[in-house]
Amino acid sequence: MGNRAASLSWARHQIAQLVGPVLAASSLYETAAWGPIEQPAFLNQVLLVQTALPAPRVMRTLLAIEQSMGRQRLQAFGPRTIDLDILYFNQLELATPLLTVPHPRLANRRFTLVPLAEIAPCQLHPTLGLSSTQLLAACTDPLDVKKFSTAIEPGNAVLPSGL
Ligand code: ADP
Ligand code: MG
Repeated sequence: MGNRAASLSWARHQIAQLVGPVLAASSLYETAAWGPIEQPAFLNQVLLVQTALPAPRVMRTLLAIEQSMGRQRLQAFGPRTIDLDILYFNQLELATPLLTVPHPRLANRRFTLVPLAEIAPCQLHPTLGLSSTQLLAACTDPLDVKKFSTAIEPGNAVLPSGL
């Protein structure tokens, strides 16, 4: 909802302040909303973030950023100002209500895999053993993912070796 690109920009700045430096940022991609509710298309972006915080603290920080940006959980799958999800936390495998990583729906969603494969094509899924590129090739999600804009902020081309 609202100015979607501005919301993503603000969230990136908050993440850089409260979680750690953003080492890479994908382009923005637009996808039609999935599910039963008629609503505007979503913009999606994937970030690579370096952090000294433990994973549960990162999740709580992201939830606090969502709240500070006015997110209310009115209906599941409904429109929202921002949705901050953790896809991977290194090679960590964790399944708790607060945080499940890898994100359980990662492999089913083209809108996640397209930006992920842009910035981390070789990142291996710890349980499936597939790279982002391989997950994308295997994904049967029919929703179209269109490039909306290319990330222009500094730092988006810097990738640690191996990613
Ligand atoms: P969705 O992102 O599936 O649309 P919500 O953002 O409304 O759903 O729900 C997020 C809830 O799921 C939060 O309470 C959060 O603690 C929990 N959660 C568990 N694992 C993750 C994850 N990897 N990323 C984001 N939220 C997660
Ligand atoms: Mg979420």
